[in-house]
Amino acid sequence: MLTNRQLFQLHMGLPSVVNNPVEIVQAKGIYLIDSEGNKHIDLVSGVAVSNVGHLHPRVVDAIKLQLDDYMHVMVYGKFVHSPQVKLAAKLTDNLPESLNAVYFVNSGSEAIEGALKLAKRLTNRAELVHFRNAYHGGTAGALSLLGDETMKNAFRPLVPSTRMLDFNDFSQISQITNKTAAVIIEPVQAEAGIILPEKGYLDALRERCNQMGCILIFDEIQMGFGRSGKLFAFENFGVVPDIICLAKAMGGGMPIGAFISSKEKMMAFTNNPELGHITTFGGHPVSCAASLAALDVILEENLPEKAIHKGKIFEKALLPHPAVKEIRRIGLMLGIEVATEVKIDQLMKLFKKNRLVVDQFLFHEKAFRIAPPLTISEEEILESIQLIINSLDQVISK
Ligand code: PLP
Repeated sequence: MLTNRQLFQLHMGLPSVVNNPVEIVQAKGIYLIDSEGNKHIDLVSGVAVSNVGHLHPRVVDAIKLQLDDYMHVMVYGKFVHSPQVKLAAKLTDNLPESLNAVYFVNSGSEAIEGALKLAKRLTNRAELVHFRNAYHGGTAGALSLLGDETMKNAFRPLVPSTRMLDFNDFSQISQITNKTAAVIIEPVQAEAGIILPEKGYLDALRERCNQMGCILIFDEIQMGFGRSGKLFAFENFGVVPDIICLAKAMGGGMPIGAFISSKEKMMAFTNNPELGHITTFGGHPVSCAASLAALDVILEENLPEKAIHKGKIFEKALLPHPAVKEIRRIGLMLGIEVATEVKIDQLMKLFKKNRLVVDQFLFHEKAFRIAPPLTISEEEILESIQLIINSLDQVISK
């Protein structure tokens, strides 16, 4: 009989070649247990998904309770589902008045697709402005906005009329014109290696979008749900978008996404044409129940504020290390750039050997990401820091 690892290599469609994959048999809190009984510390959270930790008991209970009632019953928007409407109400209670209508989807990429369609429908324009080193997802529309030309070339033609600007370059803002349908930006760029907006940059974009009558979309798919030290990253900068896109940590480990705008704007999907955006599984009742429980945990346990404190502990302990060149951080999301002489591939192997789950960024060759569950305890932080320091010591002694 073939092992699960052999089946993985033989029958799984995969985006890269993985030698020696780890088989996970259990995940709880910040720990992942593999098929050989080893315990790994998760410092990535499935890329900013497990903000409330793996298998949070309140999320698990909410899922079980919903399973007693119903799973999928009908395509999106035809019946009232209590987990959906309660979640929509709770989300909008925690957002500015202008973001009061939630369209549920299944993933981050789908949230982006829906937001782009809404922006085009509202403005009757085509041009989409995006940013270098941004990542918005793998579907055709989202891929068209990828901030790296070489990664797109094999898949052309993509969506036309896109314009790429440099993040934080005030001088290029004038390229947003009355032909622009939407400007889509991560308020904090994630895959670029954690790049924060310069003071006044998001305000300047907001002002230009107001002047030109175009839609400002914030992609908070990776930074949302407490990761940045606020429930939503835009709250750190005081700039409110016309549409916000969410996913990842939204479901507490279950798949779900959303784009949120005003009820007035969202009504555009109901006419010319009707059914302007449709989905079968978007806002699945079980995912919504899990999402509501995760949101309650984030708010009741004050995880956003705790994220700031916990992030600072990591930063303070790791910054002095000679293998570290720079740390860029917001909340409990750190982009740690290593010194020029450090071979990052070797470091990633050492992390794996020391049973730390750490990953790199798509668009930064010399940095790695630390984004553990926001529920990580101070004791677990110290344990993690020690293992990171051991790995850094080993990489410079090689
Ligand atoms: N936007 C950002 C900022 C992301 O980090 C991601 C995924 O990594 C996406 C969009 C796409 O989300 P999904 O993988 O759920 O389609």
